[in-house]
Amino acid sequence: MITINHFIGGRQAEGRGTRTSAVYNPATGAQTGSITIADADEVRAAIARAQDAFPKWAATTPLRRARILNAFLRILDERIDQLAAVITAEHGKVLSDAKGEIQRGMEVVEFATAAPILLKGEFTENVGTRVDSHSLRQPLGVVAGITPFNFPAMVPMWMFPVALACGNCFVLKPSERDPSASLLIAEWLTEAGLPDGVFTVLQGDKETVDALLADPGIVAVSFVGSTPIARHIYQTATAAGKRCQALGGAKNHMIIMPDADMDQAVDALMGAAYGSAGERCMAISVAVPVGEKTADALMERLVPRVRALKIGPGTDPEAEMGPVVTKPHMERIKGYIDEGVAAGAELVVDGRGFRMQGYEDGYFVGGTLFDRVTEDMSIYREEIFGPVLSVVRADSYATAARLINEHEFGNGTAIFTRDGDAAREFAHQIQVGMIGINVPIPVPMAFHSFGGWKASMFGDHHMHGSEGVRFYTRLKTITTRWPTGIRSGADFIMPTMK
Ligand code: NAD
Repeated sequence: MITINHFIGGRQAEGRGTRTSAVYNPATGAQTGSITIADADEVRAAIARAQDAFPKWAATTPLRRARILNAFLRILDERIDQLAAVITAEHGKVLSDAKGEIQRGMEVVEFATAAPILLKGEFTENVGTRVDSHSLRQPLGVVAGITPFNFPAMVPMWMFPVALACGNCFVLKPSERDPSASLLIAEWLTEAGLPDGVFTVLQGDKETVDALLADPGIVAVSFVGSTPIARHIYQTATAAGKRCQALGGAKNHMIIMPDADMDQAVDALMGAAYGSAGERCMAISVAVPVGEKTADALMERLVPRVRALKIGPGTDPEAEMGPVVTKPHMERIKGYIDEGVAAGAELVVDGRGFRMQGYEDGYFVGGTLFDRVTEDMSIYREEIFGPVLSVVRADSYATAARLINEHEFGNGTAIFTRDGDAAREFAHQIQVGMIGINVPIPVPMAFHSFGGWKASMFGDHHMHGSEGVRFYTRLKTITTRWPTGIRSGADFIMPTMK
């Protein structure tokens, strides 16, 4: 059993609080470690250390900041297996998937190494006669990131590389379910040359988050997690005058048009619905075939594939899907399956009874498939966050599009078709932040930005890419004149350019 520490002032720090939280290996069900929840005093002290580090870091040239991120990138590249093993041990996802999330996170670090270019300002000569204007972006100060369990490396890496590149100090509050990845990241940033106090990790839960939100030393908050918490974080942070981006939950639909390549669509659905045991905010949890013939053809191919899913511990190289994160989450998913059955959906593949030989205490749920799901059912309306796919049969494209537009969430969506006109119409009018055309999980690359619409995101700026740079900087515009000759005296009218 290990104690997973905080990381404050460039080194690990033991928690002094009285409350602890257990960390489990989801494949075995055994407790492997624990964290001590950072209380308000510890949070205040850590923020003070970060505030001390800020002026020097903000004054460090973008090129030097980029060099440190480059060194961090090299360390990540060398030790990706070590970090992936830590993720699999606490999250449960298969190792290849853990490496995939690190890879996507590294791409944001790569993006952030362009700091000298990203932070170039704008200049206009002669905005008035012999008057010039330039705009520049300056760091905000000490910013916080609060992250979910499902991507313990990638989601923090959506945030801190850009925040640090822009000259901010960053305080990370990772998920209490899988906190170890954050500590490795902190150690490696320090090894890469990041000055002490610039990156802090505070282990904790709601108590720690509340203290971060209440502290005037935190000037901006990035959050990723479930919608009720995202809404609460956004409201509390902005009421306290902080800048906030809060990404929430999802219910992502995939439309399968009658002309779609059905083999491609089924392959795409399998990975997008059951990869990472459905614990992805961009997972497809609703398939919407258009027309009865399409639906029947889809089910004919899909059902045997779901039955044949290879489930196992994340360390098994043959496994396509591992356990879910905790026992209560496993029970919650099974509860949703019960509700779907009670509401009259057709349970075609039932994952409730799945037992993993040799891992009887692990948190496994088998791949589950419902057909003839309708809009009023909780399995359709709510985010299950497990390996459960609902098929909603639509009579037309218009019905399928309406379903998506009327849904509470608007994170990601996809259409599978060979009809360019239908695809263009879909991309143009659908009320969702991230769209895939024959791409089931359209997670934007690091140099674009990630974020949903509606109840999937609160705030104005999406994460990473140019939106991330805007979020982590403030704009300043300077107008300059060097008068020559005799001054004309005071002007009392609104200045206009002559
Ligand atoms: P969660 O909302 O339970 O927790 C997220 C973070 O908030 C954790 O650090 C947790 O400690 C903290 N937290 C929990 N309860 C809190 C409270 N009452 N007050 C303050 N802080 C609190 O989410 P989770 O279960 O860790 O992650 C799964 C959720 O995250 C899913 O809903 C998923 O869709 C969402 N998610 C969204 C995106 C996205 O980009 N939109 C990405 C990944 C995950």
